[in-house]
Amino acid sequence: MKIFKGRIFSFLRKPEDINDTGSYIYLEKGAVVCDSNGVIIEINDYSKLSQKYKNAETEDFGSKIICPGFIDSHNHFPQTQVIASYGTKLLEWLNKYTFPNESLFADDKHCERESKMFLDLLNSNGVTTSVSFGSVHTSSVEYLFREAQKRNMCLIAGNVLMDRNAPNTVLEKADKSYSNSKEIIGRWHNVSRCKYAITPRFAITSTPELMEVAQSLYTENNSCYVQTHLSENIDEIKATLKLFPECKDYLSIYDKYKLLSNKTLLAHSIHLEKNETERMKETNSIAVHCPTSNLFLGSGLFRYKELEEKGVRTAVATDVGGGTSFSMFRTLDEAYKVQQLENYSLNPLATYFWSTLGNAECLGLQNQIGSIKMGNYADLIVLNSKSTSLMRHRMEKCKTIEEELFILQTLGDDRAIEAVFIAGKKMK
Ligand SMILES: [Zn+2]
Repeated sequence: MKIFKGRIFSFLRKPEDINDTGSYIYLEKGAVVCDSNGVIIEINDYSKLSQKYKNAETEDFGSKIICPGFIDSHNHFPQTQVIASYGTKLLEWLNKYTFPNESLFADDKHCERESKMFLDLLNSNGVTTSVSFGSVHTSSVEYLFREAQKRNMCLIAGNVLMDRNAPNTVLEKADKSYSNSKEIIGRWHNVSRCKYAITPRFAITSTPELMEVAQSLYTENNSCYVQTHLSENIDEIKATLKLFPECKDYLSIYDKYKLLSNKTLLAHSIHLEKNETERMKETNSIAVHCPTSNLFLGSGLFRYKELEEKGVRTAVATDVGGGTSFSMFRTLDEAYKVQQLENYSLNPLATYFWSTLGNAECLGLQNQIGSIKMGNYADLIVLNSKSTSLMRHRMEKCKTIEEELFILQTLGDDRAIEAVFIAGKKMK
């Protein structure tokens, strides 16, 4: 049994606007109690719990904010050393930097080292759930799942499926991808807090035969997720449509192979046609916004407001290594700036909801993660709004919790993540 004492902030539902104070719980002198399995059993004012749990171990964070850990809904485990690679857009960036780096994951020792580094970086930035691409080598996700299991961390991951338009070192024949993926699914899907995602990289690196493999894997294992990329870059879209001339638009390719559902994560989804947004709504598939990546690779501006109005579900993610930071603060800050360029001021309740309960709902995991409520895992992070001299100075003028969250988002980084707990266990 453990008590976490501090200012508690967590969403109950999606906020309608910046004034929607009914969308969250906020306890100034609150506490969260979790049991020995790391599951939350009570939330209340500390004064109402202190006697009842007087023998429990107490983590006292004073006036710091305790909130649910961030959920990163799209990133690439083999790209930690690709971050900050200069001067290219998507297709050239993949060929020049990403594919050569991903080929290194044929080596087990490399996978082992990188998986530890990758999850350390996510955790120290307050990310307690990750949805990740591996490399084409099944050993990449094998090591990543092992590392997540050690931490009792929620991880959704899959080896990428690729069989054309890349160096041989990162390609695999369709039949081999089928048998290798099937084996990994059997070993890791729904084991500990790990779940498997069927992961065709994108249409360009998939032959029709490989898309059929993805389809078979999903049909045979329909509790798995599907993750891929969609309409990130104009040249990518042109190249894609040439390879699948029978499909009227990019999304139709994934639709043709029956990969669209409420568990399908479509990273980027920037340059969408009207038919595509309608089909995404019909299939309940999810547009995943990756702002630092979209700006870094000059891909385009995500049409958040339009997608929301049309009823398309959206998630938010770092997309490292196209993305430039493991920090959700940096990610939300860039999301805000992208929307400013779209003449829409995304409010801090919307962004924090997005990166916690919103992403959890997109994954269908809202009864496990994404909010502080009874029965959920105690995946908790502690935010320090005064972690730098500038933030301390700015906080002197801060009046509300909404303003404080915006300050954290705009000025914060991993230094503002004071502590991280996964299923009640301290990771930072
Ligand atoms: Zn990506």
